[in-house]
Amino acid sequence: MPCDEVQRTHQIQQRRQAQQASAPSAPAETAPATPALLYCPQCSARLREQRCKLLCDRCGYYMSCADYY
Ligand SMILES: [Zn+2]
Repeated sequence: MPCDEVQRTHQIQQRRQAQQASAPSAPAETAPATPALLYCPQCSARLREQRCKLLCDRCGYYMSCADYY
């Protein structure tokens, strides 16, 4: 069996899966997985997301998901 044909078939299958995934009118693709960048209210450093918290590396400030959602 020629390798070319196998690869082409595989690509087509992948394309079909991609179409199905994006089919259900979901603009979710453009939505960022992470919340908008947030900055520390105390020192204005960028907060780092860790699990369900946003942490400030500089001053130790943090807020939980419940606070910023
Ligand atoms: Zn800070």
